[in-house]
Amino acid sequence: MSKCRNRTSTKAVKVGNLTIGEYNEIVIQTMTTTKTSDVEKTVEQIKQLNNYGAQLVRVAVLDEADASALAEIVKKTKTPIIADIHFNYQFALRAIAAGVAKIRINPGNIGSKEQVLQILQAANQKGTAIRIGINGGSLKIDPKGSRVIQLVNCAYSWIKFFEKNGFYNLIVSIKDSDPSTTYFANVELAKHCKYPIHLGVTESGPDHAGIVKSCIALIPLLNMGIGNTIRISVNGDRKNEIKIAKTLLNNMGFNIPYYNIVACPLCGRNQYDTKRWVKEIDQYLEDKHLAIKVGIMGCIVNGPGEAQGCDIAICVKDKTTSFLYLNGTLNKEIPNTEVSKTLKELIDKKYNQAVKHYEKLNK
Ligand code: SF4
Repeated sequence: MSKCRNRTSTKAVKVGNLTIGEYNEIVIQTMTTTKTSDVEKTVEQIKQLNNYGAQLVRVAVLDEADASALAEIVKKTKTPIIADIHFNYQFALRAIAAGVAKIRINPGNIGSKEQVLQILQAANQKGTAIRIGINGGSLKIDPKGSRVIQLVNCAYSWIKFFEKNGFYNLIVSIKDSDPSTTYFANVELAKHCKYPIHLGVTESGPDHAGIVKSCIALIPLLNMGIGNTIRISVNGDRKNEIKIAKTLLNNMGFNIPYYNIVACPLCGRNQYDTKRWVKEIDQYLEDKHLAIKVGIMGCIVNGPGEAQGCDIAICVKDKTTSFLYLNGTLNKEIPNTEVSKTLKELIDKKYNQAVKHYEKLNK
């Protein structure tokens, strides 16, 4: 993995084939929506999510059947699996024995301290990482006190407990459905936490709300160097979570091979409806993992200027014709009926060049 700019120094933690923290790139994770005991569907979804760009996938372990399915899921997937467990320390022990890369627990609800100790011993023996996941929704918060301080104190008290008992293979998260609480709690946490931090706003709602809340909390944290893995939680399509996460990191300048579409919002000046092109090209690029900037502009007011910063750009000239720009320079005029096909051909060319370059580097 390449090194990441401006991260606060944390311990490096191995999670399967990934190293999280220190100065490593930020890792994107998400969660399956299938019943974990349905191995076939869960494995299929993990593979899909990985294709979209999720590097870590979490599965919920709700009951005996889910716990029993973990070993087979681990065997059938290359993506590091995180088992998400509440209320039952036995499931945590079984997840560790099944070979998951990490378990995510809220130690406050998993069982007694003795039972948490058993988990730590088993995880230490097996080299399994643990995320201490403190979540505003599952913590008893005194409404008279500071929510931020209570979340942070809870996280620190468990970090100390884990350290006192010889466990250091740790990742920590504090999430809340209120983005400002999430932000301030993580600022406080990062002051003294030497372990990688997983960031996310929990229960953030439908896509539009999830995007806004995640941006409010995550952008300033990431800019401060805080956060080593992220999840954008939205009540919607899982693919969108990953697209949003990758778009966020890409636009913040992190090293994510992803696409960037510059498209005007359209107005009464546009001569041709470019919405269909934007939709088609967005779908065409979404699982290509290609670093490319594509411009699709509705007229010549801002079109030529934006096209200068793009690898490939279209700027509508009139009802029948558009200007095609390559690497910021005007290339030729093409009929509007050929724009979609031309853009896809040029994207394919770029993609094949990138694949060849990658193969050469890895020879
Ligand atoms: S680029 Fe042209 S069509 Fe697009 S929003 Fe601006 S003025 Fe309107």
